[in-house]
Amino acid sequence: MDYFQIIDGVMHVEDMPLTRIAEEVGSPVYVYSQATLIRHAQVFREALTKAGINNPHIAFAIKANPNLAVLKVLAGEGYGADVVSGGEMRRALAAGIPAKDIVFSGVGKDDAEMAAALKAGIGQFNIESEEEGRDLAALAETLGLRADAVLRVNPDVDAQTNAKISTGKAENKFGIGLHQTPAIYGRLAALPGLNMRGVALHIGSQLLNLEPLETAFGKIGKLITDLRNAGHSISHVDLGGGLGVRYKEGDVPPHPDEYGAMVARATKDWGVQLMFEPGRVICGNAGVLVTKVIRVKPGSGNTPFVIVDAAMNDLARPALYDAWHDFEAVSPTGDRFTANIVGPVCETGDTFAMGREIDKVIAGDLAIFRTAGAYGATMASTYNSRGLVPEVLVSGDRYAVVAERIEPATILAAEHVPDWLA
Ligand code: PLP
Repeated sequence: MDYFQIIDGVMHVEDMPLTRIAEEVGSPVYVYSQATLIRHAQVFREALTKAGINNPHIAFAIKANPNLAVLKVLAGEGYGADVVSGGEMRRALAAGIPAKDIVFSGVGKDDAEMAAALKAGIGQFNIESEEEGRDLAALAETLGLRADAVLRVNPDVDAQTNAKISTGKAENKFGIGLHQTPAIYGRLAALPGLNMRGVALHIGSQLLNLEPLETAFGKIGKLITDLRNAGHSISHVDLGGGLGVRYKEGDVPPHPDEYGAMVARATKDWGVQLMFEPGRVICGNAGVLVTKVIRVKPGSGNTPFVIVDAAMNDLARPALYDAWHDFEAVSPTGDRFTANIVGPVCETGDTFAMGREIDKVIAGDLAIFRTAGAYGATMASTYNSRGLVPEVLVSGDRYAVVAERIEPATILAAEHVPDWLA
């Protein structure tokens, strides 16, 4: 459930009309609902606890939405953070998330990032290769520390999602193959700089089916037994994120309650601290991208192009993954038409939808792309020398700009012409 709805003919976020935000902040603009974030965070946690999972460690996957205010809201709900870069760790700390609640994932942590994370005292490193584990152990020893760590396993399961966000197949770059895990785990556990305490997995994002996850968890259960039989003490298992959300009619993502029940079933004999890294399910439907129609141009046949002021650099998912985002007028008239929705960027990839039936809009109208709270603003670029879109957080009848618009002039100011070209 979210808090975006038409009230008196105008799309509101909670009690705030989007027309007011567009007027005062301009467009395009990302708008997030605080009440929706809180609700999703609570529903996810309750789903786990209702299923009997005691004291789950929930680390919000910051990559989905790293805005500081969003992180602050989730910190208030007791969420930790799953980070994949030094920059993300900095944000988590800046939002007041305790270092001990931060998990560091990702295949390419460099020495500077790992040293900073060790010094900050983060809670856990999710190691993705033996080489990374050795580097981390050496850094920790130099600092006189011992890093709490788990080994990310690649269970070779097809998550049945878009290939670009599928992470648990043997050919993907993530984790260690199951057959290699016991030997590598044993060698890493012997290093004085590491406290190896378990395993992690994350098989992909936008999962609409729980079966691949349950299959993967089954493999992990067997691995835990093997590792324990080899004398290792396994106290922590990080089950990653991946739960899908509804982007379009017909998407039926599993309810968090179904996920919780499946997790409880699959892990009932494990006797470990379970950890989770949800991203999209927390923030996806808590945000929209507000855009303005620049003009409507005739297209081939009877299908016009609705040219909006948002583009692929602002919301990359359609160009990257052929992703669908519902498009709705902020002040719908009830009329509908079939149109192609495109942005101003100079490539055909800058297309949000082709031949889609949508609310009838004309030049100057405001509209939203829904479900833009995850992997939206965070993936924005400045392609075509466009600026970066601002972000707004709404709570009830008030709003705040939580990320300023970065104008093209600011980006240009960071570039320099060398002396020899002056
Ligand atoms: N954990 C890891 C290691 C990830 O790579 C991702 C996203 O790809 C997530 C968690 C969050 O996934 P989602 O947003 O699908 O919950």
